[in-house]
Amino acid sequence: MPRVLIAEDETAIADAVLYALRSEGLEADHCLLGREVAPRVRAGGVDVVVLDVGLPDASGFDVCRELRGFSDVPVIFLTARNDEIDRVLGLELGADDYVTKPFSPRELVARVRARLRRSGGGTAQAAGEWVARGAFAIDREGHRIRFRQQVLDLTRYEYAVLDALLQRPGAILSRAQLMDRGWDSDADSADRTVDTHVKTLRAKLRAAGADPDPIRTHRGLGYAVEA
Ligand code: CA
Repeated sequence: MPRVLIAEDETAIADAVLYALRSEGLEADHCLLGREVAPRVRAGGVDVVVLDVGLPDASGFDVCRELRGFSDVPVIFLTARNDEIDRVLGLELGADDYVTKPFSPRELVARVRARLRRSGGGTAQAAGEWVARGAFAIDREGHRIRFRQQVLDLTRYEYAVLDALLQRPGAILSRAQLMDRGWDSDADSADRTVDTHVKTLRAKLRAAGADPDPIRTHRGLGYAVEA
């Protein structure tokens, strides 16, 4: 049974999330302080961490950095402000996803499940169908993309960008179009955000043996993929 650890100091939010996760058949624990997170993850048995950015004793960013020193456990941030989202999107923190407050517990549960599927924690539940696109294959239901039989470990945003490009291989999508597919319309975001995700996506494809780079940059227009 996958286990989720929630670090959140607002007990009303934590209770709603715990209830939603447990009623979906997941195990969930809760802590109030940032310094409790790393020891619990170290002790083992935590499959996903849901991390509030504003904790009383530490920022979620610091906690995430500490976790990344010893663990690849998926981290989903709970953020309240746009400037926090910018930092999460900066990716240097190694966060896997974020949810903006106020959020529906259901939405968070869906994100947790998506992370579990991608990290292999819920492989048996992922019954999605693989649709081939040249060297790529997409499992829409499972939010997964394979390159030459290798499942890419993508963040939600990298997945959204590559999925959009693979809809019509060769078609050029502008950064604004890519944003529309992958981000909430009210999210405070900019072209450089797409560029950042394309950059990390390229690095992952390179690591999966993609040479030459299947993603083409069309100056002033956007990006396209050659499947
Ligand atoms: Ca808080």
